[in-house]
Amino acid sequence: MVIEMKCPICEKGNLRKGEVEEEMFGVALGKFPAEICNKCGESFIDEEAMEKIEHKAKELGIWGLAEKLKVVKSGNSLVVRIPAKIARFLDVRAGNEVLLYPEGKKKAVFEIT
Ligand SMILES: [Zn+2]
Repeated sequence: MVIEMKCPICEKGNLRKGEVEEEMFGVALGKFPAEICNKCGESFIDEEAMEKIEHKAKELGIWGLAEKLKVVKSGNSLVVRIPAKIARFLDVRAGNEVLLYPEGKKKAVFEIT
């Protein structure tokens, strides 16, 4: 007997075994097993797949790239320091030009030009 798992998001669809393509910070990590809703398409990953994703991200050196930063005052400007590991990942160095622009009120994009 197959027990159908209802999707906890839409509560209409059933969860089916499948694979999802995972990425982190725009870097492809590969395909991982997941339960996928046949209605809304939401995917759910189990603990084991989570660990595999974490392992892969660590292997690629992108694990833990997101960091909380403190904004400090410098004259009339505000300064945010770019942590070394993020600078390495972005390949951004002192003297480089970057473009900073808001994307709504809660998010800003920092683009290497
Ligand atoms: Zn669903």
